[in-house]
Amino acid sequence: MLWRCCRFFFFLCAGAVLPILVVRPDLRWPAGLAGVLVAGTLWFAVDLWRAALLLKWLRQPGEREPPQVRGIWGEITDRVRRQFRMKDQQLAIVEKRRQDVLAGIQASPNGVVLLDADQRIEWCNQTAAEHLGFDAVNDQAQHLGNLVREPAFARYVAMGDYARPLIITGRSSTATHPVRLSLQLHPYGEGRSLLLSHDVTTLEQAEAMRRDFVANVSHEIRTPLTVLSGFVETMLHVPLEPEDRQRYLGVMLQQSLRMQTLVNDLLTLSRLEGSPPPGAGQWLPVGVLMEQFRAEAEALSATLTPVERPLRVQLAFDDEIAGSETEIHSAFSNLVTNAVRYTPVGQPIEVSWGRLADGRGIFSVKDHGPGIAPEHIPRLTERFYRVDRSRSRETGGTGLGLAIVKHVVQRHGGELRITSRAGQGSVFAVVWPAGRVRTREDI
Ligand code: ADP
Repeated sequence: MLWRCCRFFFFLCAGAVLPILVVRPDLRWPAGLAGVLVAGTLWFAVDLWRAALLLKWLRQPGEREPPQVRGIWGEITDRVRRQFRMKDQQLAIVEKRRQDVLAGIQASPNGVVLLDADQRIEWCNQTAAEHLGFDAVNDQAQHLGNLVREPAFARYVAMGDYARPLIITGRSSTATHPVRLSLQLHPYGEGRSLLLSHDVTTLEQAEAMRRDFVANVSHEIRTPLTVLSGFVETMLHVPLEPEDRQRYLGVMLQQSLRMQTLVNDLLTLSRLEGSPPPGAGQWLPVGVLMEQFRAEAEALSATLTPVERPLRVQLAFDDEIAGSETEIHSAFSNLVTNAVRYTPVGQPIEVSWGRLADGRGIFSVKDHGPGIAPEHIPRLTERFYRVDRSRSRETGGTGLGLAIVKHVVQRHGGELRITSRAGQGSVFAVVWPAGRVRTREDI
């Protein structure tokens, strides 16, 4: 600054001295004064011009290059330009962080809508747009009430109590694909709020399944328990003939065995769900398994009715299969015993083992029983789903057999195929993965 004052002073002096040197001695004072005035005006004009250039640039700094001015204005321009650059860098960092945060929210499986104090949409992620049927770009600044027209939601917003979420049916919900959404408002800042949406369809379905399961188990246990307690009460209070007593005890044993089978099946299912998939370390000869199934089927057939159901066993390949012995035995024999239980007396049952073209093994059980109507087939592996309730109970069924088969097969990487027609018998087949099958010659 001092240097600039000195330069200004020298400039004024130069303005005074120059005319003094060239005019007559009597005109020196007025000429010197005029020279000072001209120099001062010139200095001021140049300063003004530089300031004007700087001001012009400051009015639209981003659009043009800063002016190339010298002196104090040059330094000011330089400092301003540096400030601008720092601000731009800070803005870029803030913008980058903002974009990162938004990208994070975009990736969220939950819907997020930012609302201003008037409940207008400031921003929403794609999940929220899909949940609520918004257009993430075009619906910005739209009032939320105009887009979510569910009356329950309008009431929820009006009540102002957002401690619990509101569950509504999603826009894309159909009878075959129900969609249930949980919506919750979280107020923040000055009157703003955050609307979170969450797809709770699977959660609700799981909850419904759990409720059904508990109801089914209770129902299954209640019936034999009622029978048991009835007989115990009778035996306690009524004097019985020895053969009646014997008959009652027989029924009581049958009912307690029924409960035991149910509990065993439930434990098997929970073990299957809670344990890791079995490895391929243990190899079992299919021929040996088939003979065990034949013996079991004949024993069961004899207990059901004295008339036989001929069992034909066909072993196309002398193979071995890998997996958990108990699981494989329980799943395959379940299919064989089902065939026996649902096949009328005298009708044949065919149990076979073969290979598919791609090397996978196929264990199939074909019966000539009542068959199953197509609408029941997709539901057969659900727990406690029965087509013929009374036949299932009469033959000691729990309604869990095929659920166990499905679990075992899936855990081994296989596939359960059911082909059936009402009145024309059924084929229950297990396709076993090629990696878990080997011929006995390969051993
Ligand atoms: P359950 O113990 O009742 O037999 P499952 O899970 O083994 O239970 O089978 C479910 C239902 O599938 C049975 O109740 C029955 O209605 C039907 N089902 C199973 N196997 C056969 C079959 N071979 N023929 C006809 N219906 C069958």
